[in-house]
Amino acid sequence: MWRRVDELVEGLDLAGDVAAAAEQVAALGREAVAHLARTALGRTGVRRERAAALLGCLTGQAARWACREVERQIETRPLNPTEHMWVMALLRRLDEAASGTGTAAAGPDLADPLLDDETELLLWRDEFAALGHAEQQSILAPILQDGNPAFLRLLETALGLQIAAVDGAIADGLARFATSEALPLLRELLRRPDPVVRKRARASLAALERQGVDIRGVFVAAAESVEPVRAALASVPQGDGRMAVIVARGHTASCVRFAAVVLDPVEAGIANVWGESGITEAEFRDHLADYTETTEQRLVNVDLATAQALVAAAEDYARRQGRTLSPDYLVWRRCFGRPKQPVALPIVFGPACSRCGARLRSGDLLRGGVIAGRAALCARCAAGPLACVACGRPLNRRTDDALARPSANGARVEFLCRRCGRGNGG
Ligand SMILES: [Zn+2]
Ligand SMILES: [Zn+2]
Repeated sequence: MWRRVDELVEGLDLAGDVAAAAEQVAALGREAVAHLARTALGRTGVRRERAAALLGCLTGQAARWACREVERQIETRPLNPTEHMWVMALLRRLDEAASGTGTAAAGPDLADPLLDDETELLLWRDEFAALGHAEQQSILAPILQDGNPAFLRLLETALGLQIAAVDGAIADGLARFATSEALPLLRELLRRPDPVVRKRARASLAALERQGVDIRGVFVAAAESVEPVRAALASVPQGDGRMAVIVARGHTASCVRFAAVVLDPVEAGIANVWGESGITEAEFRDHLADYTETTEQRLVNVDLATAQALVAAAEDYARRQGRTLSPDYLVWRRCFGRPKQPVALPIVFGPACSRCGARLRSGDLLRGGVIAGRAALCARCAAGPLACVACGRPLNRRTDDALARPSANGARVEFLCRRCGRGNGG
């Protein structure tokens, strides 16, 4: 009987009638289904992929049998993080199939906590990155075959590694994820330099459209955490235009995640990104206190839309500059989400000198150039004669500790001498 199951697995045409083959396995009885479940947990990529596809089609009693066997197997052997994530999603799916509730279709309740935890995802990514190409493919195969939207974060994380073979496999596999949640990943792939990957992503996009997914939003759609926002903060921009943006989310104070980026409006767009998940509100406040202390930057509350718009503008700027987004950013950006409406930004990405119009470079900022709000002054113009706007005293920026600030209409940079600056709350 096991041989019959093996034959069905090996002869399975994934593009054909998988459900009919799954029924055949179910008809062979409990032991056959258990054998199929063990095959799906096996280490051989191709067999595993097909067995997983069959398992995904089991219903009722057979799904219950499979569920019990998978549970028994995972008690007796250690699972790596990928297997763990996959098995958890598989169990839930089998459980739903057994009770007749729901299907593999998209639904908000599919979001598995494990698949939604950035720390777990980063661990998984590092483990995945260390594997050989063949192993990577065998890990991806059942996930891509599964088509469960809960896996999209895992796939998005893998895309952050920018491995051509992985990109190609995911570009193809996304055709099975008939949900608009796949669009942010396709958007990522449509921007890849490799024309083959882009072509495969376009083909999957067309496949999703044929399946009724509204693909118009492909260039704006962005996955966003559904957890309520607990804090949105930003630092006061520095003289080099850099500022930090932090968003924390969590349903309760005992389980909070936060993501932070340092924006660089002159060169990189996004200079740095980090975050933490599974912490308490108190621990998050400790992080903020540490950050304020080590960087000597003040953090102020901002509306979520402003925080989101700053991060989105930084991402867009980085892309326009031809920068590769850091893999960590791709994992954390979901914690920010994209703004729902246009927001006036407090800073300009790619600022130009308000006096001569030249684009600022980071070298300008090292040689005395300065950014104040949406206005900027290049190094050359900043080296010219300057005066305190309050008292008129001439300023020498080499020797005076002058305070730069935006003019009242925000169009220019103006300076205050140290004495006037102190009086003006500087
Ligand atoms: Zn200038
Ligand atoms: Zn003055």
